[in-house]
Amino acid sequence: MKLADRMNRLGTETAFEVLVRAKALEAQGTDVVHLEIGEPDFDTPANIIDAGCNALRNGWTHYGPAAGQPDLRATIADYINHRGTAYTPGNVVVTPGGKPIMFFVMLALLQAGDEAIFPDPGFPIYRSMIDFSGATAVSMPLREVNDFRLDVAELAKLITPRTKLLIINSPANPTGGVLERADLEAISRLAIEHDLIVLSDEIYAEILYEGEHVSIASLPGMAERTIILDGFSKTYAMTGWRLGYGVMPTDLADQVAKLMVNSVSCTASATQRAGLEALTGPQDDVRAMLDAFRGRRSLIVEGLNAIPGVTCRMPKGAFYAFPNISATGLSSKVFADRLLDEFGVAALAGTSFGDHGEGYLRLSYANSEENLTKALQRIDAAVRSLA
Ligand code: PLP
Repeated sequence: MKLADRMNRLGTETAFEVLVRAKALEAQGTDVVHLEIGEPDFDTPANIIDAGCNALRNGWTHYGPAAGQPDLRATIADYINHRGTAYTPGNVVVTPGGKPIMFFVMLALLQAGDEAIFPDPGFPIYRSMIDFSGATAVSMPLREVNDFRLDVAELAKLITPRTKLLIINSPANPTGGVLERADLEAISRLAIEHDLIVLSDEIYAEILYEGEHVSIASLPGMAERTIILDGFSKTYAMTGWRLGYGVMPTDLADQVAKLMVNSVSCTASATQRAGLEALTGPQDDVRAMLDAFRGRRSLIVEGLNAIPGVTCRMPKGAFYAFPNISATGLSSKVFADRLLDEFGVAALAGTSFGDHGEGYLRLSYANSEENLTKALQRIDAAVRSLA
């Protein structure tokens, strides 16, 4: 079939491909530790599951408003306003997962001739969607020496009169890096000076191990030029429910709602009722998950640093370790492939997240301590086999 040219510009997310390869190896009898997929290993808290099931029994089986149920939009606005913003329900669009916000916002804003700056290494769909929109993707390197925070002086040099959109992600996938208030203030000054729109992916806002999450939207002059992307997948272990949202100026929210009408009509009604319970119900399970991630973070980072030739910074947020494996002499891709095929650990090459991911691996530590210990032993064996 002859495809439209734009399909040549669409990328993908390697995590799902590696999962398929790992499952195929398991089907042949190989024991695999899964550190490739970025999702909590916990099940959704019981009160949220009950709310979803009850909603289905109570008639929430119909279409709903394209932008989301009014009470959920209002609750999300209140929730986000704890970050120091003053949003109303009209600023919120509820979507099936946070990912569609990238898709819709970039379709709504970008076209050929525009430039959009994306974090590298960063979530691969940013670049994929910039390319798909016809705009030019401009890589913003995130460096280990800078704890994977972006370098504002370097960012300033990437901005041209054509730059329309800047994407930031804090806490970050795949590095666990966190932007500090001073970074965000400097970024906001650049955004205002150059009239940039900022897509601020804050999906890991609650998975933060030290300090307080700062949203760039809370800084002076930023709410009118920022889109916050957030959702329930990570915080409430709801990846399979598909529930996320964007918070943005109302004129853009109306356009994103129009893209909802043209694509999926609305987010599943019962899922939205479950989301309402997630935000308004007890938060003990969220705290327990964070405590578990914190313990695993120490386990994996200390374990990686004990392997000769591997170094790993302590990530400040999210649930990923991003060890530097360049001293092994192998490329990220070759090392990750060997780790899976010969040692039974599914991990992602840093280059799955951009060219600046070369020399690194991404390991999701949303897994049991037992499995993490097993993975560390196998990574150690893999590195030693090269000596
Ligand atoms: N943003 C980042 C940085 C992510 O890592 C992910 C998921 O891995 C998403 C957004 C999308 O999450 P969702 O499952 O809500 O679509």
